[in-house]
Order: sequence, then C-alpha cells, then structure tokens
Amino acid sequence: MDNNKEAKKNSVYSRTDTSKVNLSEEDWKKVLPADVYYIARQKGTERPWTSKFEESKEIGTYYCAACGNALFKSDTKFESGCGWPSFYDPISKTSVIYERDSSHGMVRTEVMCGRCKSHLGHVFEDGPPPTGLRYCINGVVLDFEKAKEAEKKFNDKKG
Ligand SMILES: [Zn+2]
Repeated sequence: MDNNKEAKKNSVYSRTDTSKVNLSEEDWKKVLPADVYYIARQKGTERPWTSKFEESKEIGTYYCAACGNALFKSDTKFESGCGWPSFYDPISKTSVIYERDSSHGMVRTEVMCGRCKSHLGHVFEDGPPPTGLRYCINGVVLDFEKAKEAEKKFNDKKG
C-alpha cells in the first residue's frame, strides 16, 4: 500500500522545525491520512508483516509521519522477526518520549514522538547490544528518506 501523505495540508510537518507540536485531535484528523491518524492519534497497531519497512535494509533516516521529527537511523535497525520495523536506539534522547502503558492486560512502555506525541509503538528489553532494547514501531507512522550519500552511490553505479 502506498501512503499518499497529504503533506500540503499538514502545516506542522517539518524536518527542520524542532518546536513542539500541539494540535487538537480534531485538527490531526484533518491533516493526517486515515491510517496514520488511527495509529498515531488513536494508538492503533498495524497488522504485523504489513510494513514495507519491516524488511527494508536501505540506508537513511526514519521520520515521524505525523510531524517530520527525525526518529531512527537505518544503522540501528535490526531484524527482530516480530513483524514490525525494529530499532535498538533512537536518533537522540529527545527524539522519543515514553509512557507506561497498561492496556490490553499487559504492562508495556509506550514510545511516542518527542515532538508531536504521536503514538509510534512500544519498547521492549529484549533487543541486541549495545542497548539491549527493541523499539517495535508501526511502519505506518514512519517516513523514510534515503541517505543522500547512499543514493548517490546507487545512481553512480547505475549510470
Ligand atoms: Zn511526530
């Protein structure tokens, strides 16, 4: 499925502006595609194995699909086999924020975007070194941008 992001209408989306985003749920609903809204704002979960990012090994940066905040780099991505894109470390300490989540009869740690507080996924303590953490993230709420260097190399090879 192709996420046709209507970025034009989403005026808070920015990959350079780091100021906190505070939109009402009503406004979010207007600017986000339905699938992104469902996960980001209603704390939904995409079906496992449905994200194109789950197996992706492309080099680049993953951004919050709701606000454009840089979240994860491809070099901290690993194959967890859990069905969702998994990372062992966010880009910076402020990229994401955490909250205790005791829904669905489990106690988990919810991971949210540090800029807009959109729901991203959960973090578990069974990841690989060096952090031992597994950030299990819904691909729908991620935007990926290929690293310029990697893209250049690829194009050079092609041409
Ligand atoms: Zn965000």
